[in-house]
Amino acid sequence: MNKTAIVCGAGGFIGGHLVNQLKSEGYWVRGVDIKAHEYGNNNADDFVVGDLRDFEVCKALFDRPIDEVYQLAADMGGAGYLFTGDNDAAVMHNSALLNLNMLEISRLNNVKKIFYSSSACVYPEYNQMDADNPKCAENTVYPAEPDSEYGWEKLFSERLYLTYHKNYSMEVRIGRFHNIFGPQGTWDGGKEKVPAAVCRKVAQAVDGGEIEVWGDGKQTRSFLFVHECVEAVRRLMKSDFLGPVNIGSEEMLPINDLVHMVAKIANKDIKIKHIPGPLGVRGRNSDNTLIREKLDWAPSQPLHEGLEKTYQWITEQVAKANEVVI
Ligand code: NAD
Repeated sequence: MNKTAIVCGAGGFIGGHLVNQLKSEGYWVRGVDIKAHEYGNNNADDFVVGDLRDFEVCKALFDRPIDEVYQLAADMGGAGYLFTGDNDAAVMHNSALLNLNMLEISRLNNVKKIFYSSSACVYPEYNQMDADNPKCAENTVYPAEPDSEYGWEKLFSERLYLTYHKNYSMEVRIGRFHNIFGPQGTWDGGKEKVPAAVCRKVAQAVDGGEIEVWGDGKQTRSFLFVHECVEAVRRLMKSDFLGPVNIGSEEMLPINDLVHMVAKIANKDIKIKHIPGPLGVRGRNSDNTLIREKLDWAPSQPLHEGLEKTYQWITEQVAKANEVVI
C-alpha cells in the first residue's frame, strides 16, 4: 500500500514543491489550500480548496487513513507584509487557528507523523543586531524576543506541537525554515520575499538602470533553494529527530551583494537606490550545526545556482505579464 499524506498549504510555494516530491516517492497525496496553486504546480491525487480555520473543513480531509501530515499553511508574506504591523492581527489569528485545528484533527485521526513549518523569525532580535555575526543556533531561541508577531505565532505553534508530542505521544517534526526561494514562488503583489523581489526588479530594469532596495542594503541574510528545503523536510520526517531544527543555508550575504549577484546573472549593469522600508533584523544566518549532526544534511548547491534558476523563471513570468497587459 502507498503511504498517504496531507499537505496543508499545497497551493503555496513550498507546499507545491513538497507535493511533487511526495508524489515522486510514491505517496498518495491530498493537497489542501484556501486557493488553487497559482502556477499550476500541483500533482496531488486530490486537491481540496478549503479554509483550514474551519474545523469542519479539516475534519473532511480524513475520509481515509492518513499516515503523514505536512502543515505548511500560514498567513504569510515577505517583509512588506509581515513587518509593517498592518497585518499582525490577521497573521496571528489565522495561522494560530489553522495550527490548532490541524494538530487536533490529526491527533483524532491517529496520524503517524506530523511536520510543522516554523521559521527563523522565532529567533530573538537581540541576537541579530550585528549584520556580520547573527546567532541563530536552535538553543538560543529563549529568552524569546522575536522581532515580529509572525515570529511569536510560530513560537507559540512550535510549543503547541511539542505539547502534543509530550501529552499524546504524537510523532511531531519541526523545521525552522530560513528564507526559502525558487521558481513558482510569489514574485509580485506585495507578498513576495527578497530574492523574488530582486529578480523581478532586475528583470524589469534596463541595462544601466536602477532598482530600489529597502534600507542601506547592508542587512544580511542567507537563502535556501526550495528543492533543498524539501529534501531536508523529507529527511527530518524519515528520522527519529523531533527538532526544532534549522533548515537553511549558511551562505550569508548583504542584500546589496544579492542584487549584484542577480545583476551578474542577468548580465546587466544595475545601480541600487536605497529607500526607507520595513527591514526586519539587521543580520540573520542559518546555523546548521544541529542539522548536520542529526540528519547529516547540508545544502548541496551554492546560492548563485538557485538564483540562476529563479531568475530565469521570474523573467518568464515578467514576460508573460507584459503580454497580458499588451
Ligand atoms: P506560501 O504563502 O506560498 O504558502 C502558504 C499557503 O498557506 C498559501 O498558499 C496560503 O493560501 C495557504 N493558507 C493560508 N491560510 C490558509 C487557510 N486558512 N486555509 C488553507 N490554506 C491557507 O508560503 P511558503 O513560502 O510556501 O511557506 C510555507 C510555510 O513555510 C509557511 O508556514 C511559512 O510560514 C513557512 N516559512 C516559509 C519561509 C520562506 O522563506 N518561504 C520561511 C520561514 C517559514
